[in-house]
Amino acid sequence: MAVVKNPTVLRQLRYGNVERVLAVLRRQGPSTRADVAGATGLSRTTLSGIIGQLLTDGVLLEEPAPAAGAPAGRGRPVHRLVLNPNSAQAAGIEVGRERIKVVIANAAHEITAFDGVHCPPRTSVQEQAAAALGLLRDLAAREAIDLTGLGGVGIGTPGPGETTGGGSAPAEAGHGVPRHRQAVADSFAEALQVPVLADNNTRLAALGEAIWGAARGAGDALHVTLSYGVGGGLVAGGRLFRGAQGAAGEIGHISVDPAGPRCWCGGHGCMEQLASVPALLRAAGRRSWTRFGEALAAGEEKECAAVERAAHAVGRALAAACSTANPQRVVLGGEVAALGGAFLGPVEAAFRRYTPTRVHRGVRLVPAALADRAGPLGALALVFHESPLLAGYTTPGAEPSEPSATEAS
Ligand SMILES: [Zn+2]
Repeated sequence: MAVVKNPTVLRQLRYGNVERVLAVLRRQGPSTRADVAGATGLSRTTLSGIIGQLLTDGVLLEEPAPAAGAPAGRGRPVHRLVLNPNSAQAAGIEVGRERIKVVIANAAHEITAFDGVHCPPRTSVQEQAAAALGLLRDLAAREAIDLTGLGGVGIGTPGPGETTGGGSAPAEAGHGVPRHRQAVADSFAEALQVPVLADNNTRLAALGEAIWGAARGAGDALHVTLSYGVGGGLVAGGRLFRGAQGAAGEIGHISVDPAGPRCWCGGHGCMEQLASVPALLRAAGRRSWTRFGEALAAGEEKECAAVERAAHAVGRALAAACSTANPQRVVLGGEVAALGGAFLGPVEAAFRRYTPTRVHRGVRLVPAALADRAGPLGALALVFHESPLLAGYTTPGAEPSEPSATEAS
């Protein structure tokens, strides 16, 4: 995970108290200053400074308190503090292979905006970062969202997910983090002057699905994305599990056929070599994934055989992974999983065949639910969960409000 430090250290230190104030308003709804002081235990001076800044940044609004039998006339009218629904507190960005996606959440934990743009292959990292930043600003302008009070940005990019510190420890930027990921994170930190956290996008999709999607409510879940590559992520006890080198959940490189083709990773017969989009196209002698789907639906022999072989490979890899990690749920996403029952049925059968009863009895295999939102939502969750600045921000399975699946992407 890449962590970029905000140069304004004071702002960081204050964040713990800021978050306490916001948490009270989320929990209690509109509250007077006295209510907030009572609930947080913060001193008048500290509270006054924090509330003043939050009002200036537009994160909070003041509204007159309803006059519930209060005697009229004497003293200052009582105001209540409310969270401004149009102020952004965190943004999640996915800079994917060919698409950039952005979600914005407000301080009430509501997802207020989502959008994506196409990004041509071979676009430079600088151009990708500029396009992502442009999309964030355009989206905010279009939806009348104020970015002034933005507290953090999470970013997901492809590539190995090496970690620099793990967990919530602020890490030394640079060591073990892919250069492109660090470059995108640096661009955002510099342009917005906010803390930025970055990680592998597939792993973040696992986190997104665990909190808001198909693995919601399951504390232990394995996520597998079967796309142009095969990646995965492991959520244990509601948090991303990274492993010593940040490679935990890399299920695509479990060898399922020792005599199989050599893989770029150095292994042989990796699941990715049998169950990715390019592997299936190769096996069926096709170039178009749309045509592949149509031929499969029409029951054509080559496509059916390729899918059967891929499903078998995935089932075997899942058996190994689930016997090790014993998750409650396995989420299958990406284009290959989107083939539906023709693929998922044989995967389930192979998985049960190769997994001890005690393990497979407790596991549910489910298709991914968030589609192309999983990545940016996971990046958002990274800010909520792991930023030392926003630690304790949200609980898995609780908030924010679920994004609507019907909104246009
Ligand atoms: Zn491999």
